Amino acid sequence: MVSFTYKELKNLWLEKLQFSKIENAEFEINEMLGKALCIDCRNPVYADKLKSVADVEIKKAFEKLCEKRLNGEPLQYILGEWEFYGLPFKVGEGVLIPRQDTETLVDVAVKKLGKSENLIVTDLCSGSGCIGIALEKNLSCGKLTLVEKSDKALCYLKQNVQLNNSMADVIHGDVFDAKVINAVPMSDLIVCNPPYVTADEMKTLQREVTFEPESALFGGEDGLDYYRDITRIYKDKIKDGGMLLFEIGINQEDEVMRILIQHGFKNVRTRPDLMGVNRCVFGQKLENTKLCTDVMSV
Ligand code: GLN
Repeated sequence: MVSFTYKELKNLWLEKLQFSKIENAEFEINEMLGKALCIDCRNPVYADKLKSVADVEIKKAFEKLCEKRLNGEPLQYILGEWEFYGLPFKVGEGVLIPRQDTETLVDVAVKKLGKSENLIVTDLCSGSGCIGIALEKNLSCGKLTLVEKSDKALCYLKQNVQLNNSMADVIHGDVFDAKVINAVPMSDLIVCNPPYVTADEMKTLQREVTFEPESALFGGEDGLDYYRDITRIYKDKIKDGGMLLFEIGINQEDEVMRILIQHGFKNVRTRPDLMGVNRCVFGQKLENTKLCTDVMSV
């Protein structure tokens, strides 16, 4: 039987990935080989290991990962863990993959609320829990509540709470269920990355995205169902002076800002992600507060 070094094996599958037009194939192949070897591919030990002859079992395991990837499965599911805001999150089939674009929400919240203490933070449609947990680690957070409906996503969410030593209260249920609404505390910040993909966009999703749960993507015909209902219901769960912060899809800023304004939010703004795409919309609930606090003017 021909024996390969890990490097030869890697190059063989790298070509297959490149042939399948997988972007960043070199990055992905190293991640998958590192996973099969149980070595972080950024560790110098990995580069050394590449020179040695491949173990039959590790070769098999690596090839299985590559085949999944060639079949379109997202790298993040194959690896089982992904980083968000410098923190590790368990992911897999049934939960939305944390995306770098979403880090924009954490940046905005940290900028606006970084000086406040003992914040009550609620993350609706939490998925992996990445937004809420990143906020807990980067704000002075007195209480964090994570709400998630899907059983599969909840399983990852709970693992991520443990993995990150989070103190979060987890609510398993639909954000529109009266019991869930009742259980959500009055919050200084309600954050939400709801499903927002439109019916038309659902037909042309990138292959990898089709592996992710439809329930985390599809936001109704115009993609705006969750913004309308969450804003209407949860404005009553935000303290006076508090903030509602949504992730949005491309070109949804005008509509979502309008929804917040219609529901009486003030200082309604949008902010772009690193690609320059407006990625979030936020506003402040100001009812009895006479003075506009400076937190929103940053
Ligand atoms: N950002 C996801 C995408 O690119 C959508 C996630 C969502 O609907 N919240 O498809």
